[in-house]
Amino acid sequence: MTSNKQLLLLPGDGIGPECMAEVRRVADWLDAQGAVTFEIEEDLVGGAAIDAHGTPLADATMDKAMTADATLLGAVGGPKWDDIPFERKPERGLLRLRKEMALYANLRPALCFDALVEASTLKPEVVSGLDILIVRELTGGVYFGEPRGIETLPDGSRRGVNTQVYSDAEIERVARVAFELARKRGGKLCSVEKANVMESGVLWREVVTALGPDYPDVALSHMYADNCAMQLVRAPKQFDVIVTDNLFGDMLSDAAAMLTGSLGMLPSASLGDPDPEGRRRGLYEPVHGSAPDIAGQGKANPLASLLSFAMLLRYSLDLEEEAQLVERAVERVLASGQRTADIAASGSTTVSTREMGDAVLEAVQALAG
Ligand code: NAD
Repeated sequence: MTSNKQLLLLPGDGIGPECMAEVRRVADWLDAQGAVTFEIEEDLVGGAAIDAHGTPLADATMDKAMTADATLLGAVGGPKWDDIPFERKPERGLLRLRKEMALYANLRPALCFDALVEASTLKPEVVSGLDILIVRELTGGVYFGEPRGIETLPDGSRRGVNTQVYSDAEIERVARVAFELARKRGGKLCSVEKANVMESGVLWREVVTALGPDYPDVALSHMYADNCAMQLVRAPKQFDVIVTDNLFGDMLSDAAAMLTGSLGMLPSASLGDPDPEGRRRGLYEPVHGSAPDIAGQGKANPLASLLSFAMLLRYSLDLEEEAQLVERAVERVLASGQRTADIAASGSTTVSTREMGDAVLEAVQALAG
């Protein structure tokens, strides 16, 4: 059975294009096998789009993202564009994509590959076998709430104000994403807020609790965010899926990510509402930035981009088998000892971005057998 999927690739700046080239090779190989066919378009975002069009995301590119089944982004930014005005900075391209695609659920897995257990700063027994997923609300909360600003009071002193606001609808839609994911994974969902000191947390807990009966196969628990931060470094394997707000998610997902070692290994996804068939349009991207310090030198680790592509196959295209194929290929390559510089023990030999891409492609081909 063949199905034709439209993919938009936005390599961006710095190491983005190098990493994306390795994804493209795997996507082209899958396409050639015929079980799933891709119509792949590449376009510009970030600094590359500023150089070509004077804007970090052209309207035509935005239109393509709105019609594609899924979009994969490399990275944006770099010193060349540091001094241009805020509204035209490379990062604005990324923010526009997230906003216009209405992506409200950010998924950040923290998966510890056996071969990289030693790369974590935590003891091997704490992180070995770790597989957790943090679902962060992305478009609400204190980063967007009104009123906000810095005001000068009559006595001349100043006051900075931000407001944490969540509606029940905003909480419900991201919680449903998390329940659905928990159902497909380990069947456990931990909802995280600070209902002990914040009204928005009280509402958060009420709304998530009320959804529980819709997902009887998911074991729901609640935890305060400060305790969750402690538990993530004390005993992270107790978690399966965590759902939390924008601010707590920002911090907890970074903490969880570091349990597994390197920035070059971390994928992410941002999802919006499902289509009538239940598939969610999404934007997929490695967590790392454009790494200008190593760009163009063949040193970048392409695995975060390849793992982001695996998430894309799973969550937007419903291609679980192909997603696992890519993930197992990465696991196999790591187990064989091949390392880019960022994940290598000091003094050991390393492979280039292209060699790592070669190894993953070969492993995909061998596993597909
Ligand atoms: P960065 O993630 O680009 O790099 C941080 C460090 O990690 C660097 O030493 C880099 O060499 C290393 N690193 C990152 N990814 C790697 C990979 N795949 N393989 C090997 N090493 C890797 O963060 P930064 O240096 O703070 O930012 C650089 C630029 O990227 C800035 O312009 C920033 O605004 C932008 N940025 C973009 C995104 C995004 O596109 N989503 C995210 C973060 C930063």
